[in-house]
Amino acid sequence: MDFALTSEQELLRSTVRTFAEREIAPRIGAYIETDAFPEPIVRGLADLGVFGLPFRAADGGSDGGMVAFAIALEEIACVDVSVAAIVFAHSSPATILAAYGSDEQRRRWLVPLAEGSLIGAIGLTEPSGGSDAAAVRTTARAEPADDGGSWVLNGGKTFITNTGTPLPGIAVIVARVPSGGLAAFVVPDGTPGYRVGRPLHKIGWRAATTCEVFLDDCRVPAGHLVGREGDGLRQALTAITFGRVCVGAIATGLARGAWEQAVAYGRARRTFGRPVTDRQSIAFGLAELATRIDAGRLLTWRAAALADRGAPFRAEASMAKLFATRTAVDAAETAIQVHGAYGVSREYPVAKMLGDAKVLQIIEGTSEIQLLLLARLLGISDGDE
Ligand SMILES: Cc1cc2nc3c(=O)[nH]c(=O)nc-3n(C[C@H](O)[C@H](O)[C@H](O)COP(=O)(O)OP(=O)(O)OC[C@H]3O[C@@H](n4cnc5c(N)ncnc54)[C@H](O)[C@@H]3O)c2cc1C
Repeated sequence: MDFALTSEQELLRSTVRTFAEREIAPRIGAYIETDAFPEPIVRGLADLGVFGLPFRAADGGSDGGMVAFAIALEEIACVDVSVAAIVFAHSSPATILAAYGSDEQRRRWLVPLAEGSLIGAIGLTEPSGGSDAAAVRTTARAEPADDGGSWVLNGGKTFITNTGTPLPGIAVIVARVPSGGLAAFVVPDGTPGYRVGRPLHKIGWRAATTCEVFLDDCRVPAGHLVGREGDGLRQALTAITFGRVCVGAIATGLARGAWEQAVAYGRARRTFGRPVTDRQSIAFGLAELATRIDAGRLLTWRAAALADRGAPFRAEASMAKLFATRTAVDAAETAIQVHGAYGVSREYPVAKMLGDAKVLQIIEGTSEIQLLLLARLLGISDGDE
């Protein structure tokens, strides 16, 4: 078993780390303070090729795979989670198109998504709930016509990341079809009947734009249906499983950033004549966290490596997400505590981390949903319903 990265992966890591330190760290605070989308930073990441990492070169990507994507997301999240969240949320609709889209759909939407000239969103969650992915109420009805016909969507989605940004975008909307199953539709910005509400104000991911969307007799051509009618749930679960690996990487990056800030501050801060990190209660806590951060990264990379090999990775993705996000919350809390009062001052980067970490435990299946799924996948329980 070889834990070493390839020379390409090492180069990717140092390139993205340098970008994060030089381009994101000094600029992101202003966007977070105003809940604004960091357009120049996102364009810079597109130029770097980050959006295309998990996708095939034939689809506008770079054949980097999930391990490479996890490496990049960790480096971005180590500096700022909002930016990593934008990149990750963008990858969900692209994953659906990569796995299920026709040649024409991949050429039309996946290529610009992978190149970063189009921003992508996935619309699954509704105001009535997100955990039960099969309970979608938004409807789609077919209207056949000589030119191929169209689909008419009605309903609403909420907490949809990457909608309402200044960049041209598409959303992959999951809706219920008359047969009773689900289906996924590409809805480009500007489609009549598709309206994006105001951005939601959140305690974390503040520079990632998250909005409600409304579908009122929203009509898209028949060619916007991805794959087949009835495949929407399977398609959404594919994206969500890949997404859990992404969230494991983002959580690992956040935890590492929090840990680095805590160690640097604790070494410099003296109380009762000695650095704070000389206190065993602080030093042991940070040593334990370093161990958990490493473990979260290994779980994440294992799931990513399985995905890259085409092997099953559902349980491994859930374990990585569950473990790394718990570590992120604990690391953020520890970093604030080590900083004392400065830890809750918005001038210090650690202040934003707890809100950012908490979001990671909710999206892509909450921690409770990961446990529910693991209990099933490991043959422990069929659930309590
Ligand atoms: C910042 C942010 C960005 C997001 N971006 C997107 C996006 O881009 N696209 C998208 O579609 N969605 C997005 N979401 C929505 C996210 O996926 C949902 O919030 C998540 O799936 C949980 O759904 P819910 O909030 O409706 O909670 P609910 O499903 O209402 O659950 C509420 C609570 O009950 C618990 N619970 C539910 N069922 C069970 C059970 N069977 N056993 C035990 N406990 C249970 C949950 O763990 C949770 O603690 C985003 C959310 C946030 C916060």
